[in-house]
Amino acid sequence: MSDKSNKLEQCLQDYYDYHHFILLPTLYEVDEKVSNNNLKLHQAIGFNMVIAHALDYMLAIQKERSDEEVNRKSIMQRLDNGYHIEGGKFINNKFQLIDAVNNSMKHIRLAPQRYKKLIDEYGHMSFRLLVEDSGIVYMKTERYQFDYGRIVLRSISRTLGFSYDEPDMILGTIDGEDGYYIQAYDPDFDPSDPSTAIDRMVEYCNPTCIDCDEGENDCTCEEFRYGDVLGEFCPDFDHEFDVDSTMAEIGSSWK
Ligand SMILES: [Zn+2]
Repeated sequence: MSDKSNKLEQCLQDYYDYHHFILLPTLYEVDEKVSNNNLKLHQAIGFNMVIAHALDYMLAIQKERSDEEVNRKSIMQRLDNGYHIEGGKFINNKFQLIDAVNNSMKHIRLAPQRYKKLIDEYGHMSFRLLVEDSGIVYMKTERYQFDYGRIVLRSISRTLGFSYDEPDMILGTIDGEDGYYIQAYDPDFDPSDPSTAIDRMVEYCNPTCIDCDEGENDCTCEEFRYGDVLGEFCPDFDHEFDVDSTMAEIGSSWK
């Protein structure tokens, strides 16, 4: 085995261990705390750091694997492209935001030249850009205001929150393989099973928001802004859903 493939194997094993021992338990906790409106500021910052560090492992893998120049930015863009969700207003820069917030935590003040782009976009960031209110952690800057827990932390928790059988499978995540063409609509019920027809109809009639993954009554996206974009409830309608045939299935199951 060549030296390079040895090193790649080691990098994959390193991330495999980090993923299972550190990242996964963190992601499960994120989901639970965000969903229960029970997220404290210091926890959001800790979760953010753990996720940001996972990007360092992915970068190390990519450096061993590719002959091209790779950097943190290219890894984040790769993940954001790979896990792009059609129709979202806030959700599609989630990995770049993790890194931006992480940088603002590590520095008391961002160096104006080195972080010019970040500062131009988000303003002078510090830990103060995250603000907790009643168990919800918001990102608040002059031009950005949104539920950071739901839109960034929890959506990443749902993107990366699974176990790998083999270290090699990590390469698929870096390539966005499980993410490409993510449908916003993610069915909970087997469409080929007639006994789920009623559940499927209920699900169809109660879409959740692509950005915050809440139902219409709980979505607060219309209060938020993301640069020049104003938020709104973005329902993840299933455009393929066939109302007539589902009604017929419901009818026949009642006979
Ligand atoms: Zn929403």
